[in-house]
Parts: sequence; structure tokens; C-alpha cells
Amino acid sequence: MSKSMLITGGHVIDPANGVDEPRDVLVGEDGRISAVERPGVINAERADKVVDASGLVVAPGFLDIHVHLREPGGEAQETIETGCRAAAKGGFTSVWCMPNTNPTNDSVWVTRYILDRARESGGGIHVHPVAAVTKGLAGRELNDFGALLGAGAAGFTDDGRPVESAAVMRTAMMHARDLGATIFDHCEELSITGAGAMHLGPTSLRQGIPGIPRSSEALIVMRDGMLALETGCRFHVQHVSNQESVEAIRWLKARGARITAEASPHHLLLTDERVGEGETNAKMKPPLCEEADRQAIVAALEDGTLDCIATDHAPHTASAKARGFAEAPFGIIGMETAFASLHTGFVVRGKWTLRFLIEQLTSAPAKVMAGAMGEGKGTLGSGAPADLVLIDPKATWRFEERHVGSRSRNCPWIGETFRGRVEATFAGGRCVYRVVDAGASLARAASAGT
Ligand SMILES: [Zn+2]
Repeated sequence: MSKSMLITGGHVIDPANGVDEPRDVLVGEDGRISAVERPGVINAERADKVVDASGLVVAPGFLDIHVHLREPGGEAQETIETGCRAAAKGGFTSVWCMPNTNPTNDSVWVTRYILDRARESGGGIHVHPVAAVTKGLAGRELNDFGALLGAGAAGFTDDGRPVESAAVMRTAMMHARDLGATIFDHCEELSITGAGAMHLGPTSLRQGIPGIPRSSEALIVMRDGMLALETGCRFHVQHVSNQESVEAIRWLKARGARITAEASPHHLLLTDERVGEGETNAKMKPPLCEEADRQAIVAALEDGTLDCIATDHAPHTASAKARGFAEAPFGIIGMETAFASLHTGFVVRGKWTLRFLIEQLTSAPAKVMAGAMGEGKGTLGSGAPADLVLIDPKATWRFEERHVGSRSRNCPWIGETFRGRVEATFAGGRCVYRVVDAGASLARAASAGT
């Protein structure tokens, strides 16, 4: 039982409930939203403490449906504790973690281990393990989906890899459909990717780096989309990177497939030119593609062909990323910078409203994860868990290593100046992060809010 709290003076943006105006938020002793009312309606004396959110935006805590927390087995890169710290710093209060750990999360034992570790060390961030489709991510033997769901798994993916065999994927979809579960896929045709390390295009040819043809992703999007159509299974395309995949998803949706898809901040903001002189923090799978692809992903998110934003937060050690472009592992961290980078890139430039960006990080992913632990999240509706963020849309700040919460530092944004910042994050009504070098308004909010 915690104390009740009134967040007053803020501008509430709660897309799930169509709210975009000044409101006060009352959090009950049970850590849930008790009331959201126009300023002055809630008597401050009803609350044990008052948080002054003047000048700040109050929004639901963000959901990241695609993160790698690396534990068990990858603790040199990330632990559940450090991953949850990264989440809190980025305004994320719920994360879905991928199964490519060591051992793989393909068993009830590992699923329970992750849930236990999250309870012990997650600092209040809600962690939902997504279990593997196949034993050891090997693509052959299906896991026991029913048992995994019973242990708390949110769905299934072999992320990090595709499920190579169409027949295995088809059977997986039939099982998942019968259980009401969702299959998530990292769509990649490995026989086409080969030794590719970046997008195959003018930049890779100029640099002499082996390229990944764009068909590698789109072929499997279409293959699995056809299987989803045929089986009726709910299917989610992870980290869409190019215009062919966008077109495939558009076609599949028009045909009635139960398909959703996500866009990552890096595919929305960067292109393969960022690889520059072998910049390993621009190396990820699927790769950064060309400007026309980036624009197609932005347009698809805007028109609903893509359903939400997810970071694919993928920590790697500095020594691994220092191996040179060909040898370095794929992936970058992303939770700490997702909001600020997208706010700077799209909202400040007048391309998106702040409400649209918040929607893509809250109610939109909650909708994708309906049936996969997303219910009741991404909203400030009465009775919802008091997971929320305070945002200063006017803060101008330089993102530095000290702002990273992750154990790893593989981030292309270090040194970047951002406009807009997560000032504080609350999970279940408890403050799990607050900026320490903030301006006066935040200092007031923070001292009152913990
Ligand atoms: Zn992936």
C-alpha cells in the first residue's frame, strides 16, 4: 500500500481516452488511477502528496513490445535490472523481452526465472517474456505453447532469427491460433542475407561491405502473412525496414490477415548513409535502408499500415561493437532515446503532433498486445495501473553516456542534442525515475513525487 498522490497543473495526453487538455490526475493508495479531472475539481487535501506538473505533459507510461534484456546468460550486455533502468529512463513502464537468451527462453523454467528476476530487480517495471517458437531457436521442434502461456509467456517468436521452415511456421501458427496466442516474427530469409552486414544499395557498394538484399525481409513478411491468412493466426511483423515489406503488409491487411507490425525509431529516423566509415552503432538487423524506405515506413505508421513503435533495444558490449563493421554484432540500444529522438525528429519539426507520438508508444502497442499482456495498459483510465510519464516538451538537452540506463552503450545518439525529455516515470504510482539535473518545475515535481 503506497500513499495517494495528486499530479496537478499538467497537460494530460491520454490517446486511449481521447484526452488532450489540462487535467489533474489522482492516484489512489492501491497504485491505480483513481480520477482524471479538470483543474480544481479534485481537492488536493484528498491526496497524501501533491506533484506539481506545471509546464509538463502527463501521459500513460510507454510500452516497448520489443526489447532484449539478455538475462539469463548475457549479463555482460544487460541484466533485467539494468534493462528496466533503461526502460524507466526512457518513460517505458512495460516491456516485452525476447527469448534469445542463454539458455533460450523455450521452457517454463526460463519464463518463470525471468518473471521472478523482474519482480526482484525490475524496480517496478512490468516485464513480459515472449517465449521461443522452437526449441533453442533451432527452427525444428515446436515448444509447448500451452505450458509456456500458463507460466506467463506473452506470445512466441524466435527473434534474432526467423523460423526458417515455412512448414514449421505454419504448424506453429495453427497451435498459436488454437490457444489464442500471437506469433511474432523477425522476418528474414537467411539464404538471401548470407554474409550481408548492411543494406544492399549504393552505400554498401561504395563501401565494399556485403549487402543484405531488400527481398530478404519482404519474402518472409509475405510468406508468414500468407500463412497467417490461411491459418487465421494473429501474426506480428517485428522491426519493418523497407518499402517492399510495407507494401506486403498493406496487401495482407487488405486481404483480411490478422497482421500487425512495428516500426523502430532507427528505421524511422536513419538511413544506411549513417553507416559512414563503418559506424557499428548503425549496424542492426534488419538494416537501415534508403531514404525512400525511411519515408515509406513513416507514411505507413501515419496511415496505420504499421501499428506502433517498438525499439528493438539490443545491448552489446563495447568490445563486441569494436570488432570492426564486418565482425560486430547487429543491434543498438533504444529505450532511453526513443521518445526524445522521435520528438526531436518529428514533433518539433511539425510533422507529428505530440499526441500522435504518445499514441504510438502507449495505446497503439497496447492494442497490438491485446491477448499478449497488453490489456489495461497504455491508458490513464480510471482503475488502470498508475503507470505514467511526465514529459517536458520544451527541454533542450544533450544526450550523454550518463543518461544511459542500460549496461551497454551501443547507441548512435550519444552526443546528440534533443528537444523534449522524459522528466519522471511512475510505475504503479511509484516514482521509478526522475531527472536529477532538471529545471525548476521538475525539481518541484520530483521532490514532491517520491
Ligand atoms: Zn529481430
